Amino acid sequence: VSLSPESRAGLIEAVGAAWAREDPDALIAYGTDALQTGRPADLVLLPRTAAEISAIAANCNGDRIPLVVRGGGTGYTGGSVPVRGGVVVSMERLNRILEIDEENLLAVVQPNVVTGDLQDAVEARGLFYPPDPASLRRSAIGGNVAECAGGPRAFKYGTTKRYVLALEAVLPTGEVLRTGSKAVKNVVGYDLTQLLVGSEGTLAIITEITLRLVPKPAAQATLRASFRDIASAVAGVSALLAARVVPATLELIDEVSLRAVERHLGRRLAPEDARALLIVEADGVPPGVAEELNRVEAACRAAGAIDLDRAASDDERHRIWDARRELSHALRALAPLKINHDVVVPRGRVPQLYTLIDRLGHAHGLLVAAFGHAGDGNIHVNFLIDPADPDQVARAATAQRQLFEGVVALEGSISGEHGIGLAKAPYLELELSADVIALMKRLKAAFDPNGILNPGKIWR
Ligand SMILES: Cc1cc2nc3c(=O)[nH]c(=O)nc-3n(C[C@H](O)[C@H](O)[C@H](O)COP(=O)(O)OP(=O)(O)OC[C@H]3O[C@@H](n4cnc5c(N)ncnc54)[C@H](O)[C@@H]3O)c2cc1C
Repeated sequence: VSLSPESRAGLIEAVGAAWAREDPDALIAYGTDALQTGRPADLVLLPRTAAEISAIAANCNGDRIPLVVRGGGTGYTGGSVPVRGGVVVSMERLNRILEIDEENLLAVVQPNVVTGDLQDAVEARGLFYPPDPASLRRSAIGGNVAECAGGPRAFKYGTTKRYVLALEAVLPTGEVLRTGSKAVKNVVGYDLTQLLVGSEGTLAIITEITLRLVPKPAAQATLRASFRDIASAVAGVSALLAARVVPATLELIDEVSLRAVERHLGRRLAPEDARALLIVEADGVPPGVAEELNRVEAACRAAGAIDLDRAASDDERHRIWDARRELSHALRALAPLKINHDVVVPRGRVPQLYTLIDRLGHAHGLLVAAFGHAGDGNIHVNFLIDPADPDQVARAATAQRQLFEGVVALEGSISGEHGIGLAKAPYLELELSADVIALMKRLKAAFDPNGILNPGKIWR
């Protein structure tokens, strides 16, 4: 698709010439996310209001121009990457916190408020917005809603969807809708709010979000448990679940990841013979937190932990968390390309998932790092490869398909939090039946009859 001069002029008029970008550098910069690149857009627009977005959508719909919405651009699956040219609508000017309602425990925000900024603002008032993707200093709430982002705290607090009460959104045909309400209960009609959560910018453009908040926990405490091998660490996870302990976070780090992050930080994070770590954080009222960590320690010891390190100060807590936060960067030093998959299995099947990962690494001669949100059964499986080696690329592709087939056989899912986007579109049929896919496509057509909004995503 290329833009006719009339279409281009109409679109630029919707925002004003000062807020349109057409130079090649901008088109490229707005055409990638954390991993993927596509075909740059013909025009980037930076609207400020829902009314401007409505005018853009109506123009695109009338002229059948692809329209891609962009939040923070930190996605891992190409959601905000244009693949058929057209227009990128960057939400960066819709970046205000409109209201923090302490009485009703909610916040109303524009979509491009940075996740971490919202957390800081509500915490200053004794409130808490739990979803904590590792990208939170750069990702936007709108992008988090569109991907239903998770993070370590999802184990106790759930993912983004649990916090979305109401939305304002612009349909690709230009209508401005309001879904949900400020009340925490609402069963009037179909739940369009939750349909839009996780819709990856394919159904509507979200222009305002009402979020539920919770009280900020009074205390937090962190424990690092080191294990001789991954099997004992995974047994530690099972022991915690069996003891009915639900800490705020339960993160698992394997040997490849541990050694990489130790090299990256230039210090040891665990005893020399440790080959796996669990990082567990409890939060709540102080006596409850202490009691919970005691139970965590007992479960980890029973599972064979060789070292337990409880953080006594905030500094020590941060030192423990460094191991997890720096992981993505540290792994990049191991290979030119890190193919990251956020597969998820029912919590109790994490041991089988690790057996599968180990088997795939050996069978295909690949370096694999597997770490993540063990409490949710959501493990980030990273194939570390050299893209210049075609044989390795082919082996990684086979391993990837077998990984997806394996998680579906374990009754899990090929994506727990990063979405389908471009990257996983070829694998949708592994998980969804033809009837379900057909129904989803009818829903897509009801929202977007001309298929202009984020074409090529989720569906090939
Ligand atoms: C270092 C790193 C760590 C990460 N860690 C995590 C993690 O722990 N958990 C996790 O879940 N993800 C993680 N991610 C992935 C990514 O940060 C999330 O998917 C995040 O939610 C994307 O938000 P964004 O604002 O950057 O969205 P973008 O990448 O800009 O867009 C993502 C999708 O949302 C759509 N979209 C954006 N804004 C809107 C809107 N207003 N209306 C409609 N659609 C919209 C886009 O079209 C696109 O399909 C990580 C990424 C990086 C780079």
